[in-house]
Amino acid sequence: MSNTNQIAPVRVRFAPSPTGKLHVGGARTAIYNWAFARANGGTFILRIDDTDPTRSTEENTQVILRAMRWLGLDWDEGPEAGGDCGPYFQTARMDSYREAAERLVSEGKAYYCFCTPQKLEADRKAAAERRDSFQGYQRTCRDIDPEVAKARVEAGEPYTIRIKVPDDRGDVVVHDAVHGDVTFNAKELDDFIIFRSDGTPTYNFATVVDDTAMGITHVIRGDDHLSNTPRQVVVYEALGAPTPTFAHISMILGADGKKLSKRHGATSVEEYRDAGYLSDAFVNYLALLGWAPDGESTVISRERLSSEFSLDHVSKNPAIMDPKKLDFINAEYLHAMSDDEFARNILMPELVQAGFEDAQSPMHDDEWYVSAAAAFKPRTTLSRDVVAQATYLYTADEELAYDPKAVKKWLAKQGAQQALDAAGSALAGIAEDQWTADVIEAALEPLPQELGMGKGKVFQPIRVAAVGTAVSPGIGETLELLGKEHALARIERAKEYAA
Ligand code: GLU
Repeated sequence: MSNTNQIAPVRVRFAPSPTGKLHVGGARTAIYNWAFARANGGTFILRIDDTDPTRSTEENTQVILRAMRWLGLDWDEGPEAGGDCGPYFQTARMDSYREAAERLVSEGKAYYCFCTPQKLEADRKAAAERRDSFQGYQRTCRDIDPEVAKARVEAGEPYTIRIKVPDDRGDVVVHDAVHGDVTFNAKELDDFIIFRSDGTPTYNFATVVDDTAMGITHVIRGDDHLSNTPRQVVVYEALGAPTPTFAHISMILGADGKKLSKRHGATSVEEYRDAGYLSDAFVNYLALLGWAPDGESTVISRERLSSEFSLDHVSKNPAIMDPKKLDFINAEYLHAMSDDEFARNILMPELVQAGFEDAQSPMHDDEWYVSAAAAFKPRTTLSRDVVAQATYLYTADEELAYDPKAVKKWLAKQGAQQALDAAGSALAGIAEDQWTADVIEAALEPLPQELGMGKGKVFQPIRVAAVGTAVSPGIGETLELLGKEHALARIERAKEYAA
């Protein structure tokens, strides 16, 4: 189904229940709604479905709003933003559900039901024993005279309100933009409850009342709700409201094909944020999990997403969460930053977070941080990877820990002592103001030949001496950042370990 040639302006909503954090599946639903609104010049609404009083909390609502802001999914109407169709919390809309339900009763499209839970259970059991293909509500109260029913309600008898599925309704065909036409057998539709005895609306009712009141044109949500949709269609019809276009998007599964859960690692948006993923990369990754503009791009900017997104290319197959691919995309975004941007937005905040730096009084000049950014960026997949790389720069020379494996492999080896001696002399000859990566490399370059040793045997001991491990950026950059004094002190100290 095409989303072009829309007549009514697009209005979509993301309607999380604040019963927990925002999970990756919900985040992707939010992204698709947002992108669809943006791509069609429409309106993106955030509605908080907080009708479950036992599980909804204000704290969860705040966590969700924070996650939405971090994802950069700005909503046009909703909490904080306001809008003409508010309030945007279902608990603040309770009167409208009651009014709508009562209206349907007065129009003969819904009715009061006085069946007790015990009676309903007994009916269900009897139907099961008869092996009846229909085990839903037996319509016991459907034909109670409306005046009699009203009197019973007024007398205080407990009741629910049930929708009256028209006898001639027939099968319900949901035209789904992702799944195509999905037919639900009329027989399976019983007269379901729209209003509970405790005075609260059911999900299928409240959602449709709100989606109607808010003028929602497209309902984009997880396909765990596809089976609810025929009931919602019946409610739209009873309300005399147009049915929106539905688009049910697939679930996100773990690599083992099972529903994504803690066992697979992080599941909430905040966990990914805290793990150091960039919001742009995370949105990019989730957007492409089940949607592709061309089947090729792995990196797609927010601008492209919000101009090219369409329901046409959304896959109905379950999406598999692939942390490696997410890492790859995150690295792509980091590597695409300029050194200056990386220094300011990634390196410095991480160093402050690690307690290495104080944002108010940096220990080095700007140029130094840009050089550090250039050195670390290519080896950074997650922002926080810079911390491990930079630790050697924020450790006192005498406290630098040596990785025992690196010591064994590179320092406790024949020739390491000579390499360190030669490096020490060569570097000592460089003037303080000449201490740059290029000059350092030029000074060290002739050593392998002079010592008659392979490059690794000469440079690796120097690296281990300076950093404590056998992995670092180029030796010139590594030593430049460290500074001459510390570089020489460490080379001297490493000789204790050298064979
Ligand atoms: N509050 C519902 C949920 O979180 C919304 C479903 C819908 O979009 O209709 O599952």
